[in-house]
Amino acid sequence: MAQKFLEAGYHLCKIDEKPDIVIVNTCTVTNIADRKSRQLLRKVKEENENAIVVAVGCYVQVAYEKVKSIKEIDISLGNVEKKDIVTIVENYKKNKESIASIADINQEKEYLELGSVTFSEKTRATIKIQDGCNNFCTYCLIPYARGRIRSRKKENIIEEVTEIAQKGIKEIVITGIHIASYGKDLEEDVQLIALLEDLNQIQGIQRIRLGSLEPTIVTEDFAKRLSKLEKICNQFHLSLQSGCDETLKRMNRKYSCSEFKKVVQILRKYFEDVNLTTDIIVGFPGETEEEFKQTYQFLKEIKFYKMHVFKYSPREGTPAAKMPKQVDGNVKEKRSQKLIALSNQNQDTYNKKYLNKPVEVLIEEKKENIWSGYTKNYIKVCVASNLNLENQIISVTPTKEVDQMLFAEK
Ligand code: SF4
Repeated sequence: MAQKFLEAGYHLCKIDEKPDIVIVNTCTVTNIADRKSRQLLRKVKEENENAIVVAVGCYVQVAYEKVKSIKEIDISLGNVEKKDIVTIVENYKKNKESIASIADINQEKEYLELGSVTFSEKTRATIKIQDGCNNFCTYCLIPYARGRIRSRKKENIIEEVTEIAQKGIKEIVITGIHIASYGKDLEEDVQLIALLEDLNQIQGIQRIRLGSLEPTIVTEDFAKRLSKLEKICNQFHLSLQSGCDETLKRMNRKYSCSEFKKVVQILRKYFEDVNLTTDIIVGFPGETEEEFKQTYQFLKEIKFYKMHVFKYSPREGTPAAKMPKQVDGNVKEKRSQKLIALSNQNQDTYNKKYLNKPVEVLIEEKKENIWSGYTKNYIKVCVASNLNLENQIISVTPTKEVDQMLFAEK
């Protein structure tokens, strides 16, 4: 959307530079995301009375009437209208009229091509390859907000990555809502692994990171082909959500704990020192102490580098919101704390393995003479140096670890 405004001759500015138009791209993944979206919309209007405030994205898509009734918002747009945002805002500027309703996301049959995004990144760029999800996990609103799976054409992805490489960007992160589905809706016979093989050949790109990988796609053959691509980073985010089969069934996840464990074994076999992270939901309806215990034991065994722990929050319109035996807030909080402690402990142990050993870091930014960036397996490293290290891959030897970051000098 920013790119579209730039192309139409607008100037992008920071929120404290008194903008004429403010676009808030909302999220609805949790109740907290909804709340934050509402708070932000009100805050930007309070601080920029004369600005046109536009709410757009997933929260608007699933709660249009509610969002529209917030008086601080001038224009509310769903996910389909993103492509026409400039025209809609310009019409509003002329006659103060917004659109009457938003389009149903399920009518979208093809990936909405917004074009290349090349204006802001210097080191690491996010490349979106698909949208939507057909899975309908019982707690999740995303299929309602994003619609069914739509894959981006391979040639458009390759074109964007080639442009990015020419700008000197070295790392790309492949994202989507459910990237394992990539290609399933395209006429052309193309799968995620084939796309990655093509991207691996683009000159200038040195690292390819997968944003999140659904466990169901990881077979022996997939991992073997993936491991032959030298640019693929040995870091994978595999959403587990629960380490108890009964809970997984109620969540409508499509794997069992033993299948998930097999995936972990395969990745550990093909990728040296692989860094595995995950998402876990605690306090899913009906999660008993015994079920949580099973999850905890499973997580202890798998030893993820980092776990993003979410306390279950019912999303109106999903099957899980109506399930019996909703779990008390205090219980969720206790379970969450327990998993966060385990995650911090795992991260500490993993990071310490790299003390006094050389590591390669792609430097992304500098703050007060300290450069920072990530290793290929996504450990944050801070480097004290007077040299200009911007966007370089350097070798350093960390000597200490503080707050889950490694520190070195150059
Ligand atoms: S796989 Fe499940 S959790 Fe992920 S977006 Fe689809 S429905 Fe939501």
